[in-house]
Amino acid sequence: MNSVNGNIAISIKNLSKNYIEGGKPHAILRCANADIYEGEMVALLGRSGSGKSTLLNLISGLDTPDEGDVSIGAEKITQMSDEHRTLFRREHIGFVYQFFNLIPTLNVMENLKLILELNDQENAKVRCVELLDKVGLGTRLDTYPDALSGGEQQRVAIARALVHKPGILLADEPTGNLDETTSDEIWDLFDTLIRPSGGTILLATHSLTAAKRCDRMLELKDGKIHDITGKYD
Ligand code: ADP
Ligand code: MG
Repeated sequence: MNSVNGNIAISIKNLSKNYIEGGKPHAILRCANADIYEGEMVALLGRSGSGKSTLLNLISGLDTPDEGDVSIGAEKITQMSDEHRTLFRREHIGFVYQFFNLIPTLNVMENLKLILELNDQENAKVRCVELLDKVGLGTRLDTYPDALSGGEQQRVAIARALVHKPGILLADEPTGNLDETTSDEIWDLFDTLIRPSGGTILLATHSLTAAKRCDRMLELKDGKIHDITGKYD
């Protein structure tokens, strides 16, 4: 066990998810199990279509399973009402997407502040500026997403994912749409900014180099989660 303090941050228990395709269920997750400990950074590998995004969406409560549970700390996110799950996600989970998902009609600062306003936090502006400085975009507060490069948009998205100080950071192929040099800069942010912020990180990636920076590697295969830490040493 690679736990930092031994407490489980994310518990995945007997999780199953099917999509209906051509009238038949297509099993994506088949009674998948895994525990992720507080403070760990864990890579989620698996070929395209293996269910990585599905799993991250179930953990964040964006989607619901057919069977099984996901607990975040002591709370079963899979048993919450839709409204409770939305509020829980806003407070405790940060999400970084492959395609950045910034709101195009809001500038950089407004994209960040939106999260804090939803959470009703004070000192929103100070916190946003501090984080945007840390990702190197402190001088671009008034810029709109379409005037930023992909790497810059992803840095804003990372600041946005951290602004409410979530305990859990989920990232779904965060460099999947970026060139190699820009990807390296994003992975450096994981080490210099995201990890030191103290949360638990689960990131889906195809990059073995990035996965090797993590404490553990999980692989999704045939609907199950396998711990493959050490396989590529
Ligand atoms: P990955 O992120 O590992 O590439 P996904 O979780 O996106 O995999 O998808 C897993 C499988 O589930 C794929 O076969 C995909 O086509 C299917 N799938 C994902 N979302 C849906 C959906 N909303 N409806 C039907 N099938 C879906
Ligand atoms: Mg995916």
